[in-house]
Amino acid sequence: MCGIVGYIGEEQAAPLLLQGLEKLEYRGYDSAGVAVYTGEKLEVAKAKGRLKILSDMLDEGKSLRGTVGIGHTRWATHGAPSDINSHPQVSDSGKFAVVHNGIIENYLTLKTFLMDRGVTFVSETDTEVVAQLLEYYYKKYHCDILEAMIRVIHKVEGSYALGVICQDSPDELYAVRKDSPLIVGLGQGESFIASDVPAILAKTREIYRLNDNEIVRLTRSGVTVFNTDRDEVHKEPVHIDWDVSAAEKGGYEHFMFKEIMEQPKAIRDTISPRIRDGKIVLDDITLTREQVESFRRIVIVACGSAYHVGVVAKYALEQLTRIPVEVDVASEFRYRHPIIDDKALVLIISQSGETADTLAAMREAKRLGARTLSIVNVVGSSIANESDDVLYTWAGPEIAVATTKAYSTQLAVVYLLALYLADLLDTISPEEYESYLDDLQKLPEQIEAVLQNREHIQYFASRNFNAKDIFFIGRNIDYALSLEGSLKLKEISYIHSEAYAAGELKHGTISLVEDGTLVVALASYLPLFDKTMSNVKEVKARGAYVLGLTVEGKTEIEKETDFVFYLPATNTMMQPSLMVVPLQLFAYYVAAMKGCDIDKPRNLAKSVTVE
Ligand code: GLU
Repeated sequence: MCGIVGYIGEEQAAPLLLQGLEKLEYRGYDSAGVAVYTGEKLEVAKAKGRLKILSDMLDEGKSLRGTVGIGHTRWATHGAPSDINSHPQVSDSGKFAVVHNGIIENYLTLKTFLMDRGVTFVSETDTEVVAQLLEYYYKKYHCDILEAMIRVIHKVEGSYALGVICQDSPDELYAVRKDSPLIVGLGQGESFIASDVPAILAKTREIYRLNDNEIVRLTRSGVTVFNTDRDEVHKEPVHIDWDVSAAEKGGYEHFMFKEIMEQPKAIRDTISPRIRDGKIVLDDITLTREQVESFRRIVIVACGSAYHVGVVAKYALEQLTRIPVEVDVASEFRYRHPIIDDKALVLIISQSGETADTLAAMREAKRLGARTLSIVNVVGSSIANESDDVLYTWAGPEIAVATTKAYSTQLAVVYLLALYLADLLDTISPEEYESYLDDLQKLPEQIEAVLQNREHIQYFASRNFNAKDIFFIGRNIDYALSLEGSLKLKEISYIHSEAYAAGELKHGTISLVEDGTLVVALASYLPLFDKTMSNVKEVKARGAYVLGLTVEGKTEIEKETDFVFYLPATNTMMQPSLMVVPLQLFAYYVAAMKGCDIDKPRNLAKSVTVE
């Protein structure tokens, strides 16, 4: 998410900050800003929109004097993109300026705490809490900035990379990170902070990588790293020898791969702020129990992979809430005179929040009187703005056209929502609720385990990337997932593939299976494992070569299939979050081996804003 840059040295800071931010543009953002110490005070300039707007405002930075400063490109999570919500955020007296990447999960509690003590807030961001809290401690304890930073770190929960400057100490710049990226660049008589290497590559290739909660003080004469006990920490510099293009992708060859690898963090960022004291707290939605009880059905409307999330969501929502659920593709829904009224909850899913068909479908649903709830990644987007309620996926910007982390975080939000509604309606017992919640919180680390095992899928892909046709089969939730596995493969590798409910094959499609046809059999839904194995036998009998995917321990799959990939087990409802990962990896490796343009596949656009 977003980009942070900081500079202290002998050169004019603002032009360097802007150049650094430009190198982080690939990360996606909606607004930008800088703060510089001008010799008397901190001066802040920020603007919603492209970096160019800010750069023009500041004559490419030349109009801002000063040799120490921080800069930021924001990807809004709390508060819509606007000039005021842009960073740097400044404390009440203007003494502290802060840039932040991440989410402060307990910002509401801290905001109330500070407001009760007379602090005035001007933005809707979670970040402002950090600026205000720094000043609060700094004044209350008459302490130095390092001490104030340590106190803030002990108070805030969530993820952060922070860059801080203070008017009272104009020869210092501070930074700290936890679960958000931040590096320190080491120069001669100058030093830098940045979210990522490309921002500083023109100036230095020597960096420090910071561990969680290591606080760094940068001055013109050097960099010192502290732990939260104020002890100095010795760091070994790392030399970067990547070129800029590799650096943008975090050293990976493609954004898609980077985003696949980011999934554990993206899911953690999406769920953990919403679980407090063993309960799901959806501050963002205003649905009452009475309203939820009045819904006769839930209708999910979306396009592409978001539609596939909807197909999984149907199983999850029906299972937990016992409310009937329909799923429709937006381009069909909008023109089929849908039977919708105020007894329907219409759930809209879109990464960009600008998908034209989905937006039109939502407007149609609203016109017919439905209550609308959207699941969206881009704060302040049209769908987010116009729906009655919105639940954001905090996946961060997704650059690759083929979605991975947006899909996974949408799914995570669906689970949160299903559990939340089930709790509201008392359709699950407290024990079930607790156990589902436990499983949900374990997903990020289970996905990490699947990713660790990726070479297995890579090997399989290396033997099969020349396949002409591939079938994905499964039952129940595995079927829902096979739709996504097949789409991913088609999108980026251009191999023809079909997803079929395993029991449906023999009603026609099995005629296409011949000697050597590749079939991917998803068998993680254990209540129907044996049935799926019967379907595997049917395709094997026609000569198919079968990759079987199931959960650890289900070794009986080995006698039915030619190659097996095992996944960690979770409850059946959440298994798709794990199962989707090998499917993404399979599509990725196949496309890579075929030499396809993975991040920008032919004929496809990231955000489909036309009908
Ligand atoms: N949560 C912060 C905000 O919404 C920071 C977002 C970012 O990482 O850019 O302002």
